[in-house]
Formats: sequence, C-alpha cells, structure tokens
Amino acid sequence: MTADTPANSTSSVSDPAPRSAQLFERAEAVTPGGVNSPVRAFHSVGGTPRFMVRGEGAYLWDADDNRFVDLVSSWGPMVNGHAHPDVVEAVREVASNGLSFGTPAAGEIDLAGEIIDRVDPVEHVRLVNSGTEGTMTSIRLARAFTGRSKVVKFSGCYHGHVDSLLASAGSGVATLGLPSIPGVTDAQAADTIVVGYNDIEAVREVFAEHGDDIACVITEAAAGNMGVVAPREGFNAELREITRSAGALLVMDEVMTGFRVSRAGWYGIDGVAGDLYVFGKVMSGGLPAAAFGGRADVMDLLAPRGPVYQAGTLAGNPVAVAAGLANLRAADDAAYAALDRNSARLGELLTESLSAHGVPHQVSFAGNMLSVFFTETPVHDFAGAKSQQTWRFPPFFHELLRRGVYPPPSAFECWFVNSAMDDTAFETIADALPHAARAAAAAGSEAGK
Ligand code: PLP
Repeated sequence: MTADTPANSTSSVSDPAPRSAQLFERAEAVTPGGVNSPVRAFHSVGGTPRFMVRGEGAYLWDADDNRFVDLVSSWGPMVNGHAHPDVVEAVREVASNGLSFGTPAAGEIDLAGEIIDRVDPVEHVRLVNSGTEGTMTSIRLARAFTGRSKVVKFSGCYHGHVDSLLASAGSGVATLGLPSIPGVTDAQAADTIVVGYNDIEAVREVFAEHGDDIACVITEAAAGNMGVVAPREGFNAELREITRSAGALLVMDEVMTGFRVSRAGWYGIDGVAGDLYVFGKVMSGGLPAAAFGGRADVMDLLAPRGPVYQAGTLAGNPVAVAAGLANLRAADDAAYAALDRNSARLGELLTESLSAHGVPHQVSFAGNMLSVFFTETPVHDFAGAKSQQTWRFPPFFHELLRRGVYPPPSAFECWFVNSAMDDTAFETIADALPHAARAAAAAGSEAGK
C-alpha cells in the first residue's frame, strides 16, 4: 500500500499489535525500557509502543502493517513528510560516494550558508550531532564570553539532556514526572536559576539579585516541550532588553521552532534577535545533525580560532548534511503555507470534537506548532500545563491510535503537522476524533471521579 492508495480511512487499526508487542518484548530485554529515547515509550499512556517500519508522506506503517496519519513527524524534522523524494535522492547520491571522511566537505558550507541566509542574527555556524550538544556548547561559549557562571532557564523548557539544564525540564522529564535527576550533582545544578516561563517580573528580580553573575538566559523561542506555550506578547523582546543591559547573552533555542514555524523559525515571527541560536530537527532532514550559531564575535571564541573547545568525530557528516540541506530547500513558501493550513485545520477539528463532547480543553498554538491541554484555563507556563486533567489523555490517545492516527504519546508534547497531509489524512483524523473525544469525556480521574 502507498500513500496514493490509502486504506479505507475509517478502518480501525488492529489492537493489540502483536508484532510490535513481540518486538517490544525483545527490546525490553536489551535496552532500558525498550526504547532509545524515553519520549518514544508509552509510559504515561500505557500499552505497547508501535514499531514503525516505513514512512511515506503523511503516513507511517507499523510492523503489523497498520497505517497511521503521523502527527509526530519524528518529533519535528519531517516538515515535508516522510521519504520526501528530494531528501532521499540527496542522501542516496552523497552516500554512494562514502559515508564519512573526517575532513571538511563542501556540503557543510552550503548547510551553514542556508542557515545564515534564513536567520539574520546568525553570522557563524558550527554543525554538531544533536540539539543537546548545541545547547551544551552555547552555554559554555556564553560563560567564556562573559566570564560569568550562572544560567537562567525557564521551567517546562527542555534544552536536551545537558546536566545543568535538566532542572524543572519539559519533554520526557515532565511526562515521567521526575522531580530531580539522580546523577546531576549539586555543583552542576548550582549555577542554574530556574524561572517561570512568561514571568518577566521574576526574570527582572533574578537579574536584580544576580545580574553580575549571569552569563546567559536560555529559552525556547516558543515553548513546545511542556505542550505548546507561546511566549506572551513582548516576552522575548523584554528578555532581549534585560540581557543586553546586564551584559548577559540571550540564547534562543530554536531546535523545535527552527525552520518549522517559518522559513526563519520563530525569529521570522517575532524578529527578536538572540546572541546565540541552537537548531536541530528540520535542518537535519531526519538524520543526526544539529547546529548552533550566532554573533561572529562570540562564535569565534570556538577552537581552533579561539580557546573554547568543542568537537565531534561525525560533526558535519556528509550524508546528514545532504539530508538537512535537501529538507531545508524543499521547505519553500508553499510548504510553510501548507504547514500553517494543516495546523489550523487540525486545531479546528480538535476544538470541534472536544467541544461537542463537553471536554474541557485548550488547543494551544505557537505558529504552526500545537498541542491540547485538558483544562478550561489558558496555559502560559509549566504550572498551568501541569494543572490540566492529564488523566483524560491516555484514553483520548488510544482511541486515536486505534483508528489510525498517531499523536505524541504524552500530554506534555507538541503535535507536529507536515506539509504532505492530504484530504484523506484529515478524513482519518476527522473520523477518529469524535471517538477519542468521547473517551476523553468518559475518562475518570485517579481519584475515582
Ligand atoms: N532543545 C529543544 C527545544 C528540543 O525540543 C530538543 C529536543 O527535543 C533539544 C533541545 C534536544 O535536541 P536533541 O534531542 O537533538 O538532543
């Protein structure tokens, strides 16, 4: 079956999925929790993670040959849908010439150039293998540049699994409800100051007390790891002002928003310039690649030009670079218009079905990123996100899954549309949602409601 000859859109997916169940049993025997990244587990929703074997356009197929409309998009990278022909062809062509040289290669210049061309404040770029590496080194650079040690981060924001940035983190840390992370020493955590997202007064207070010691503020340009929470009007601009006047740097983490919410990421939406940027996901095309970049005077502290050491055996890998570049080039104006359209259409369907079944909810947007919070109250921070009725999420999720729709398996994650979604994909979603909304309405809290 191909994306052009879709299965009956109302057909339900076999449940349980026996081949996935077998694979999961084998995986659990060799890998902690059976997954190589906690967000892939069905820990908070229960059941067996689906093992995927193929992706094409808006769809994924699992080991039991069930087809899903994919609303995870590999957690962001696949803006153009799965197996986009340009990306696959670029990978084939480059791979046939060798997989890695451990020397510079021309594609790296093109990818760095494409990023610089899209995001004005970025003057120099270094390629790395993951967003985690990008945030880790950005903080090192900010400390070296300012000669200061403290870092301000926001609760519910996730910047990868950097020791010092795991405090009050979103994403899998929030999904699993981990209050603290064993293995992160007090010393590593001591220089991190955690502030409520969107609370500019708290940021001012922190700077009033510690301003001379603060190397940088790191923020998700728009938060997507506690569910989706847009910055309040003026929040990023105020962070810019406060950091500038205190001599601290502003690190914009655009790993999720970058090249997804617009051609220039969140910068293309609010125009607030950070000193340093971190990118990943879309610019990787789905292979392991990420980047950080920003002001030339800060970036040029990096070795070998400067003394701040950072390196990577496979950094700028030619195959990953080719995939990233092809993905960015395929993400043209028409693709961004489709992403915006698809996000709005999904949001309308969610609102319609949840309202029809009387389920308290917010469909929360930041550009074309969206998520659902089961609450009557608009969410502006992590406390708000956590106060939702999370117990409505597992039955909601499983009804969607059963009916061929694959949303993120957590109440604290962003839903990612792609530009390949067609009317058939939306029909599948529209058919599944009323069942899911009914299940969410009927859900009982742990208190036995
Ligand atoms: N920053 C943000 C905003 C992210 O969403 C993520 C991952 O989801 C990261 C950093 C870490 O990126 P990676 O998983 O590539 O290490």
